Amino acid sequence: MTVSIVSRAQWGAKPWNGNPSHVALAQRTEFFIHYDGAAHITRTGNSVPQAIDRQHQSQGWAGIGYNFVVDQEGTVFEGRGWERQGAHCPGHNISGLGVQIAIGGDQKPSAEALSAARALYDEACRKTGRRLAMRGHKDGYATACPGAILYDWVRAGMPAAHAEGDDTPAWDGKSFPGRAAFALGRKHDAVTLLGQRLTAHGYGRFYKVGPGPSFGKADKGATAAFQRAQGWTGSDADGVPGPSTWARLMAAPKAHTPVVALAAGVKPGARHTQVPELQQLLIKAGYGPIKGAVTTYYGPNTQRAVARFHYANPAYRSKGRSYDPAIGAKGFECLQRKANRK
Ligand SMILES: [Zn+2]
Repeated sequence: MTVSIVSRAQWGAKPWNGNPSHVALAQRTEFFIHYDGAAHITRTGNSVPQAIDRQHQSQGWAGIGYNFVVDQEGTVFEGRGWERQGAHCPGHNISGLGVQIAIGGDQKPSAEALSAARALYDEACRKTGRRLAMRGHKDGYATACPGAILYDWVRAGMPAAHAEGDDTPAWDGKSFPGRAAFALGRKHDAVTLLGQRLTAHGYGRFYKVGPGPSFGKADKGATAAFQRAQGWTGSDADGVPGPSTWARLMAAPKAHTPVVALAAGVKPGARHTQVPELQQLLIKAGYGPIKGAVTTYYGPNTQRAVARFHYANPAYRSKGRSYDPAIGAKGFECLQRKANRK
């Protein structure tokens, strides 16, 4: 298993202010865990390394001082990377790789963050060819960092679900592989099958490139949409496949009702034989009630229901309109998909 790392170019790092020294992998003997400080961190994504980069540059440093940063979604961001000297723990910036888990104070690290940090540690050991010493920042310097929770985790040996060395049974290529197969950034063959089945069920739009073995945001988003379409909510629709999600994905997709095109005459204020269909779809998809329906008249009540659909699905709203009572061709297609899921 390897870790996917969001590169500096991908998250929008500023150019180095100066040039951090090269450190050979052979010089690395320690692996330091940090946190962000006293305040809880609610943001995830690119803004996490960007904020640290800005702060460290404003201190006169070359740029982000950690070798890597892990956010609460388990995304790993490149800081100084594997082979540049860090600026995270005086006296240990050459021997030690420094990884910040982007939480603060008494905030609980997510399972995804711990799992990603552990995967990064395993990768570091593989790259350096030795077992790096596991350290918290306070092991090298008088500081509260990385906070009590992460420090306990480091001292416990950085346990994470599916860490290397676990006796994970081989996957049979079809049964539910266990939730541990679906941690962000981890690779598992079941993730490829997951993506293929999601695509077969009509969720291919989440993938910019095709499904692959590394569980990423596309997989999570597509899975969550699939789960919501089952009528599930809350933790049942968290984007992480469980046994029920898996069983339904492996089943053949329900036949889709073919999408019907919108007739040109279906307009606010007009009468048209397709208006009853529009009204029924609006009601079925949850944008009713429509007083007076079903009728061929695209009157104010139908217009209000269409506007409700547009509030919920602003991508289909005409540009510049906050209240849009006129359904468009693409919106009508979307409405059919939504109604057919109920
Ligand atoms: Zn620290």
